[in-house]
Amino acid sequence: MIAAWVDPVGPSFPFQDEVREGESGQGYALRMAHGNGLAGLARVKQLLGKTHSAVLDASDAVPLAKWFGGSVQLLDFSLERLNLGRREAGSHYAGHPLGRSYFLTRSFPRVCPDCLRELGYCRTAWDLTLSVACVRHRRVLLDRCPSCLHTLSWNRPGLEVCSCGYSLSMGDAPEAATTDELLVAHVVDQRMGDYAAFGEGCRMAESEEEAVGMPTFDSLLRNLSLDGVMRIIYALSTAAMYDAEVKAEKRERGALMKARQTIALAAAFGAKVARLEAPDLQTRRPSVLIDLLSDVASSSRATSSDASLARSMLGWLLVNSPTSTLASRHVSLSQMELF
Ligand SMILES: [Zn+2]
Ligand SMILES: [Zn+2]
Repeated sequence: MIAAWVDPVGPSFPFQDEVREGESGQGYALRMAHGNGLAGLARVKQLLGKTHSAVLDASDAVPLAKWFGGSVQLLDFSLERLNLGRREAGSHYAGHPLGRSYFLTRSFPRVCPDCLRELGYCRTAWDLTLSVACVRHRRVLLDRCPSCLHTLSWNRPGLEVCSCGYSLSMGDAPEAATTDELLVAHVVDQRMGDYAAFGEGCRMAESEEEAVGMPTFDSLLRNLSLDGVMRIIYALSTAAMYDAEVKAEKRERGALMKARQTIALAAAFGAKVARLEAPDLQTRRPSVLIDLLSDVASSSRATSSDASLARSMLGWLLVNSPTSTLASRHVSLSQMELF
């Protein structure tokens, strides 16, 4: 006798939908859970045999597709796929390889309440740690509830509802984003699946420097991969922490505030790099920076633009670094042509 075949992932739920272009995989699961009257992602995680604090990843694509009607391929694309099953080994997100685990926010979602109201989905762009603004609404994203002041959670009951019951779409007092925050958000948007629909009408104003043909922070980021953009911004902000003119008074706390500070520091220092101004680095060994840059330069995933920018910056920093031993050890780098 043949044993009855048991479907390992159980039945489908009545409300079915495809993953939207540019929609975050965790956001999709929350949207579908809410549409099916489940108590948010917490219930979905329970069905997947995961803990309350677990993050959904591409290994959950098959059951989620079966339950909610999305295609496995799109779910795999919009959930984080871990290399070698370990986050430290890097991952893929929204079609992009990411070399550092801190490039994604995962458990601390951010939203633009105005976009949630207009678009009805959570964007993959919001899951990048350095994505702090919405270009469409020219505002800073929300990472905490304006009512209960707790950080937003993927375990909230619905896309627009905080765990305290406050409706995020009721509106808040949006904080205006800086030009550099909008620029980074725009650079991320350009690399996301919903850019054609979302980016329409979101043209960035040309900066004054750009208008007169001067190199800018923007020009440093333009041709890089998403991973390259992240690495270069972190590298520039690390360098800025050592720069006598640019360095921050104090380190911010909280992921969103830290990301905003990282962008501000990187943009200030990046403008100097773009103008090839010598920095006054107050360190004998900007090791984190060198690590990030040499990593980009030698990474097999780096595009040729990533690698050549990283090599140029390394060369420039080694020439301008007070660490003569470091420069002499990397003499080939220090003699490289800049930009
Ligand atoms: Zn928005
Ligand atoms: Zn709340």
